[in-house]
Amino acid sequence: MEFAGNPEFTSDEIALGEALFKAPSVFVKGVAAMDGLPGDDTPEVAFAGRSNVGKSSLINALTSRKTLARVSITPGRTRELNFFTLGHDAGLYLVDMPGYGYAKAPKTTVRGWTQLIADYLKGRRELKRVFLLIDARHGIKPNDRETMKLMDVSAVSYQAVLTKADKPKTQELEAVLAKVSEELAKHPAAYPQILITSARTGAGIAELRATVAALAPNGVVRSGQAPV
Ligand code: GDP
Repeated sequence: MEFAGNPEFTSDEIALGEALFKAPSVFVKGVAAMDGLPGDDTPEVAFAGRSNVGKSSLINALTSRKTLARVSITPGRTRELNFFTLGHDAGLYLVDMPGYGYAKAPKTTVRGWTQLIADYLKGRRELKRVFLLIDARHGIKPNDRETMKLMDVSAVSYQAVLTKADKPKTQELEAVLAKVSEELAKHPAAYPQILITSARTGAGIAELRATVAALAPNGVVRSGQAPV
C-alpha cells in the first residue's frame, strides 16, 4: 500500500537511493563517549527515536539486512552511537543512535546515554541530518520534544519519519500526520517534509533511501570534499 503524503521523488533520485543501499553497509564502530567519534571528517546522517519506535527494523529495511541493527528483544538495548558505512565508500556514515525514553534501565545508565545523545547533537559538525523517528500511531511524545529542542538550539537539521505506518487506519494516520506537520512548522531546525514508512510493508523505504542519497550526491562524496 502506498501512502498519500509521502513526498514525490524523480526516478533518478529513487535510483540513486537504491544504488546507495545496494552495496553492503559495514559496521565501523560503536561509540560510547564523545572522544570515540570518528575523526575522519566524513559527513553522517543519524537515526534517532524513542525506544521501540521501530528504528532497528527501519534501518534493517533500508539496508535490506536482517542483522545490521539487531531488532532488540529488550527495548533500549542499544546504548551506543553505532556507525555504519554506506555504499562503496559513499563518504557518508549512517549512525544508529541509542533509543531514548526507556524507563526500566538503571537511572545512572539512562543519564549516561541521555548525556551522550545531548553532547552528540550539540557538537558534531559532520552531522548533516537527523532522521527523527515517530511512531505513526502515537505522534510526537514529550521526550521527542526534548530531543527536538536540543536540535533546534544547536541548529541540527532534522526530518521526521513516521514508522509502523501499516498499523494505524488511514484516517488515524492522516490525523497524526497533520498534527506532526503542524508541530514541526514551529521548529526552526525541522525539515518540513515528513516521510511515512513501514518496515513491515516496505512503504516509504525507497523515498527514505532517496532522501539519504541526496545527502551524498551520486554516492561518491569522499572525505576531504566540501561538506554536502
Ligand atoms: P527499536 O527499539 O526502535 O529499534 O524498535 P524495533 O525495530 O526493535 O521494533 C520494536 C517493535 O516494533 C518490534 O516488535 C517490531 O517487530 C515492531 N515493528 C517495527 N517496525 C514495524 C513496522 O513497520 N510495522 C509493524 N507493524 N511493526 C513494526
